[in-house]
Amino acid sequence: MGSDPGAGLRLSGKVCAVTGASRGIGRAIAEELHAHGAKLSLCALRSVPEAPAGADALSARCDVADANEVARWFGETERRFGGVDVLVLNAGVLERGAVAELSEAQWDRVLDTNLKGAFLCARAAWPALARRKGRIVAVGSISGTLGTAQAAAYNASKWGLTGLVKSLAEEGRAQGVFCATVLPSAVETDMVRQTPFSPQMQPQDVARVVRFLCAEAPFAMTGSAVEVFG
Ligand code: NAP
Repeated sequence: MGSDPGAGLRLSGKVCAVTGASRGIGRAIAEELHAHGAKLSLCALRSVPEAPAGADALSARCDVADANEVARWFGETERRFGGVDVLVLNAGVLERGAVAELSEAQWDRVLDTNLKGAFLCARAAWPALARRKGRIVAVGSISGTLGTAQAAAYNASKWGLTGLVKSLAEEGRAQGVFCATVLPSAVETDMVRQTPFSPQMQPQDVARVVRFLCAEAPFAMTGSAVEVFG
């Protein structure tokens, strides 16, 4: 990166912020990044996420859809660590239902968390990422490449997330900020239990791809959406 755009970002000592890190894929990402030497700033909605044992970590309760809470979490991260090098946009929710029965509140909850939340976190982290030539990796979904009955809001949010990250990648190109999305199919977590789909992989499989994008992927991959199909 930077003067050597082919090189990746070594994670040792880098500050990685992960949203939705209390369970599932986000928790596996936190563990994977910690195992490779990263410092962590973690958040979740309903509780303060537990940091991996031995991690140099800040943990906070933060609703990513609330600009004030996002500003507070990134402010705490800035004071504790001086900024972030990597932002993993993982927090997400699913609401299922036939379109005629999907409420406005369900639509708003999904779009606010999965799409607006990603924008708010990226906006808050951007000055530090630009200063540090950092990286954004978003957890999108294979649902952001196709249509799924009973999941209109979720699929719309994930298509939107892929587009948001591709736009951030173009903005980040001149500043050396790498941005990419990972697109998993069904992963064994609480979320997949809300669906009729059988899990095809474990959260750790996605975490390893996220770590590759955070740490090793050449800058030439910026803007990519990487499928992890199981
Ligand atoms: P999960 O087990 O349901 O965990 C969701 C995480 O997001 C939790 O930590 C939750 O915090 C957090 N969260 C939800 N709303 C939030 C908000 N407003 N602010 C901050 N944190 C919030 O889900 P998962 O399966 O690990 O999914 C993680 C990501 O992967 C999501 O973006 C999802 O769309 C994506 N994905 C999942 C699958 C799959 O099959 N599981 C497939 C493709 C993509 P609390 O614990 O406090 O509620």
